[in-house]
Amino acid sequence: MVDRFPMELVAPDIAPHVGNTGIPYVTTLRAAVSGPHIVLAALIHGNEICGAIALDHLLRHGIAPARGALTFAFCNVEAYRRFDPERPNASRYLDEDMNRLWDRATLDGPRRSTELRRARALRPVFDNADYLLDLHSMQYGGAPLILAGIVDKSVELARRIRAPGVIVRDHGHAAGPRLRDYDAFADPASPRAALLVECGQHWEESAADVATVTAYRFLAACGALTPEASRKALEITAPPQRVIEVTEAITVASDDFRFAAPYRGLEVIPRAGTEIARDGGRAVVTPYDDCVLVMPSQQLARGHTAVRLGRYAP
Ligand SMILES: [Zn+2]
Repeated sequence: MVDRFPMELVAPDIAPHVGNTGIPYVTTLRAAVSGPHIVLAALIHGNEICGAIALDHLLRHGIAPARGALTFAFCNVEAYRRFDPERPNASRYLDEDMNRLWDRATLDGPRRSTELRRARALRPVFDNADYLLDLHSMQYGGAPLILAGIVDKSVELARRIRAPGVIVRDHGHAAGPRLRDYDAFADPASPRAALLVECGQHWEESAADVATVTAYRFLAACGALTPEASRKALEITAPPQRVIEVTEAITVASDDFRFAAPYRGLEVIPRAGTEIARDGGRAVVTPYDDCVLVMPSQQLARGHTAVRLGRYAP
């Protein structure tokens, strides 16, 4: 049973953003003054349209870097072209999940797919990024999340943008590395850093607002805007961010995975040993008190991440 959500967003026409880089749907703007190269990425998942709305907004408003370079990348354009509001889950990808391909072995390897072809074409963009913001959305709404991976530099960058309010430190998925964990972004010795932001439920209006505001804040925090514009972008009245340390991802191991309750994410389960799901015959239980459920999935196929477990950092 897959929950249905109202379609509040309209997928923008990205034809005007075919770009100037030779890589389709990638636009790079350069300032006269040197500075970091910032990449804003949308549509790694073809049906997560809030990121496309944010990039379309910035491009139409002529947002350009005051220092360095700024690249706008619409990633899985082929899947996005198939986006149908009547069947919005069908265009997440065509052949495979584009956010599980990001290691050298896979990108340099012999395997072929629609998504791998595009990932290989986009690779130079990410190889040349000092800072990457990868905009996504979630199956369920609730608080937006910054997925910072496990390296400290990403958590520090997440704190510099000051919102959204929940920072998740996690290892990603058994099925393959995410773009945010690609190469130097996951290397503690490199200053280059990436954040993935889950802006809200895929189709809710607030997801597009969060994506757009977060993109401005990211540009400000990474030094692409003038000091005055940065100060304005980073003004905030929200409470301080909290960090969830993810300790494990529960990967579906059977053809019959069921949650014990209709979890939506960020539930705190008070007692260790509480059964939260059954995977085949096996009980999935919380490993410690006050366990936080992060991004429970509706797509409970074998090998996919069902939910991540973590706890709030003190
Ligand atoms: Zn996504």
